[in-house]
Amino acid sequence: MEIKTKFNLGDKVLGISHCTKEIIIPCSTCDSTGEITIKDKKFECPDCYGEGGHNEYQPEAWYIVTEGLFSCYDNNVNVVKIDIDITKEETKIRYLLGRKYSKSYSGTLWDENDLFKTVGEAEAECERRNKELE
Ligand SMILES: [Zn+2]
Repeated sequence: MEIKTKFNLGDKVLGISHCTKEIIIPCSTCDSTGEITIKDKKFECPDCYGEGGHNEYQPEAWYIVTEGLFSCYDNNVNVVKIDIDITKEETKIRYLLGRKYSKSYSGTLWDENDLFKTVGEAEAECERRNKELE
């Protein structure tokens, strides 16, 4: 088996991330009333637990994560570890950005799709994803 990764160990990369906004999806079981009526008796809707809707988190406004956020890593945003999960359904490649301690690694795991080599690439992808959200 041969696996191609987008980055190598030690590569300096940029990550993009997004804010999330909470939206409320109206409950279709109770028509957002929070109650259902069975044989003239009112019950709390079992689907939304009386809330009348479901909360969902959607991505909003992608941006480049600036180096300031990585200051605990001395601005060295390097790939220190590559995690590969292979299942029948998918191959998931994630990169640990952070630092190496004597026996372990510390940092944040990033999805391959959210990392880029250059500011230009990262900006273009933010723009593309933000257009998709509109
Ligand atoms: Zn409901």
